Amino acid sequence: MQAVQYDAYGATPTLVDLPAPDCPADGVLVEVRATGVCRSDWHAWQGHDPVSLPQVPGHEFAGVISVVGPQVTTRRVGERVTTPFVCGCGRCAYCAAGDAQVCPDQSQPGFTQPGSFADLVAVPAADLNVVPLPDGLDFVTAASLGCRFATAYRALTAHGRVRPRDWVAVHGCGGVGLSAVMIATALGARVVAVDVAEPALRLAEELGAEVLVEGGADAAHRVVEATGGGAHVSLDAVGSTDTAVASVCSLRPRGRHVQVGLLLGEHAAPPLPMGVVVARELSIHGSHGMAARDYPAMLDLVARGAVRPDLLVGSVIGLGDAGAALAAMSRPAMTAGLTVVRLEPGV
Ligand SMILES: [Zn+2]
Ligand SMILES: [Zn+2]
Repeated sequence: MQAVQYDAYGATPTLVDLPAPDCPADGVLVEVRATGVCRSDWHAWQGHDPVSLPQVPGHEFAGVISVVGPQVTTRRVGERVTTPFVCGCGRCAYCAAGDAQVCPDQSQPGFTQPGSFADLVAVPAADLNVVPLPDGLDFVTAASLGCRFATAYRALTAHGRVRPRDWVAVHGCGGVGLSAVMIATALGARVVAVDVAEPALRLAEELGAEVLVEGGADAAHRVVEATGGGAHVSLDAVGSTDTAVASVCSLRPRGRHVQVGLLLGEHAAPPLPMGVVVARELSIHGSHGMAARDYPAMLDLVARGAVRPDLLVGSVIGLGDAGAALAAMSRPAMTAGLTVVRLEPGV
C-alpha cells in the first residue's frame, strides 16, 4: 500500500510503498478515504511528542472496513466508519465504562502505531472504537470531525455542560476554538471569542460569536465586562500559560474552565489563581478527545445540519501532497481551515 512516512524527527515525510498492516484479532482494517492533517501530527514529526520511528502520521480519518478480525462481533466489511483519535484497549474498567479517552493502555494511530496517511490503517478493539457513519455524511467531513471538532464538542457538553443562553468564552480561535464557537452557538449559548488575530475573530463572528475580544493582558477583564459578571463556561483552546490563566479569570462564580489546548514544554504548569478558584467555587476540567460512546449525539447534530463542520475544511489534497502539507505547518498558518487528504478507493 501507499503511505506517507518519516524516518526521523523533522525528516521530510515521503510517499513510500509499505506492506499492508496485519488486522488485529479484535480489530479491523480500514481503507482510508480521507484523513486530516493536524497540528498534533506536526508536533509528533517535530519530536515534541515522542513517537516510534519510522512513523506514518494521521489520526483523524474516515473510510471503509476492508478486513474484520475474528474476535469482532459488531462490525462488518464494507461499513463506512470513523474512530476517535484515542483508541481504548477494550479490556480495562475505563473502556468498560465507555471512557476509552482515558484508557491507561490506549493507542493512537500516527503516534503509538502507524497512522492514516496510508491506504490502510489498523484499528484495535473495533467493537469499542469504531463508529459507523450516517449515510449522508461524506468522508472528508467525517475525517474533519475526528480530532478538533470532537474535542470541542466534548469539552462543551461533557465538561462545560453548556445550556441555552449560557455565556461561553473561547480563548483562541484556531481549529478547535472555531469548532467550539460553532458548536456552542448551535447549543444555544452566547459566545465571546478571544484571539490576538483580527482575521480569526472575524471567522469566529461568522460562525456565531456575539462578542469579540482582542487577546492580551486585559482579555479576561473584558470578557467579565461583556458577560455581566463572567462566562459560565470558558475554554482555553490554545494551550499556553497566558490563555489558561485568562480563561479561568473569565469565569463568573461557579463557572467551569475546560483546558482543551495541550500544555506542552514551558507551558506545562500554568500559574492558575487557585485563590480565585476557591473563592468563586470554579471547576477546572481537562478534556482529552472523545470516546466512541459520545459520537452519536455529535453526529446527530451534524446530520441535522445544526453544525457545519464542512465549513471548517480549508483545502482537500491528495496523499502525495500530505507530507508537504505537514511540513508547511512549520510556517505560521494564514487560515485555520483544516487540510484534508482524500484517498481514492480500491487501491
Ligand atoms: Zn482500556
Ligand atoms: Zn488531531
